[in-house]
Amino acid sequence: MPDFPAIRVGQGFDIHPFSTDPDRPMMLAGVAFPGPGLAGHSDADVIAHAVTDAFLGAAGLGDIGSHFPDTDPALQGADSIELLRAAMRGVRDAGWTPLNADCSVVLDAPKLAPVREAMQERLTEAVGAPVTIKGKRPEGIGALGRGDGIACWAVALVARPQ
Ligand code: MG
Repeated sequence: MPDFPAIRVGQGFDIHPFSTDPDRPMMLAGVAFPGPGLAGHSDADVIAHAVTDAFLGAAGLGDIGSHFPDTDPALQGADSIELLRAAMRGVRDAGWTPLNADCSVVLDAPKLAPVREAMQERLTEAVGAPVTIKGKRPEGIGALGRGDGIACWAVALVARPQ
């Protein structure tokens, strides 16, 4: 058996409803959009959360809720890019090198294409490896199709020497 490096894949999912507060800002992949934003304890950055969970899963380090509980008052309104950075420090401390992540975001609005590059750069910088983002329309199906919220799926790959 060849001496392959250890490679692990992780999967992350997150979903947040839209806030009823018209003044709440929208943060997606660390980029600000006009509100209303998504409801949540932190800044509710659904893309950053899915990427965080994907890398934590790949490294066998649990999930975002165990590291950053939504009952922690210190995390009220937290910048999810900073949470992602902290999670990536944990991934590296466990001996894993991030290779890449890829995200599918399900939403009708806001339009991601005009800021896709900016979002990818923000996540890529925070992770220290390429992160790509694809937007998908929910085609009118279910709660996402009614515009109740935004969901994101992410996969991430990590490696370490044997
Ligand atoms: Mg979340």
